[in-house]
Amino acid sequence: MSNGNIRVAVVGAAGKMGREVVRTVVREEGLELVGAVGTRPAPDAGVVAGIGEIGVPLSDNLQEVLVNRKPDVLVDFTRPDAAVHHVEAALALGVRPVVGTTGIPGESIRRWDAICREQNIGGLVAPNFAIGAVLMMRFAKEAARFFPHVEIVEMHHDRKLDAPSGTAVKTAEEIVSSGAPIRSGRPDEKELRPGARGADVGGVRIHSVRLPGFVAHQEIFFGGMGQVLTIRHDAVDRQCFMPGVVMAVRAVMTYTGMLYGLEPLLR
Ligand code: NAP
Repeated sequence: MSNGNIRVAVVGAAGKMGREVVRTVVREEGLELVGAVGTRPAPDAGVVAGIGEIGVPLSDNLQEVLVNRKPDVLVDFTRPDAAVHHVEAALALGVRPVVGTTGIPGESIRRWDAICREQNIGGLVAPNFAIGAVLMMRFAKEAARFFPHVEIVEMHHDRKLDAPSGTAVKTAEEIVSSGAPIRSGRPDEKELRPGARGADVGGVRIHSVRLPGFVAHQEIFFGGMGQVLTIRHDAVDRQCFMPGVVMAVRAVMTYTGMLYGLEPLLR
């Protein structure tokens, strides 16, 4: 920290989420953008993010940014294979990772938790930084206790690389952790075309739609006798993720270990 500001570097800074993070960090009081990393260098990350010059170049060398710009926090919105390397590079230098990239394997998160504890630093991996989506997961966990027949439909833009979405998987895990006896369809049902019944996460079926026109949306259907309860969240603009990202950047400065999901910060 310098002048009490949290020094933030962003990797994936030329991407859709990364540019939004650059714009947010620059205007957020108490945060200071000290580094920006992408696959192609550019003279100024602010110009790339559409806010004009900010005096922070877009570098293609994460290691150089970590060593020379000395961020307190590295925010990663890239792709899962790359993010794993970025986080390990950050942790090796005691830089706290805030990871929005989805599709990170659970074993990596567990390993990073151990490293964070050794280094006495905090980190966070969240499949969804939208506070509305986190509440959707919380409410779903509660509903599953009374409505154990549940299925998830998630809808995203057609450029998304991973399916099912990290949010859908996390939602299913939360529902399973309610201890409810999850039910979905008949045990002897036949899938006449592979995938017709969706992905199975702990017994919860997830159906993934990928179409232009969508941003990030999810519906959770709870079926009961003569009634259906639907919980739905729509991310209609990437700005919806930014309050959660800022919350995480501030929070990782205050605890030790790697958290998975924003939920623990919303108690
Ligand atoms: P995007 O527009 O494709 O941006 C990803 C950026 O990362 C691109 O600029 C890409 O550069 C860059 N990149 C890839 N590998 C890199 C590397 N090794 N080093 C540096 N930069 C690298 O995708 P997006 O929509 O921003 O999404 C990014 C990730 O965030 C995805 O995993 C998505 O699922 C996730 N996401 C999470 C949340 C959340 O709330 N947690 C919300 C929305 C999205 P090139 O294009 O040159 O490869």
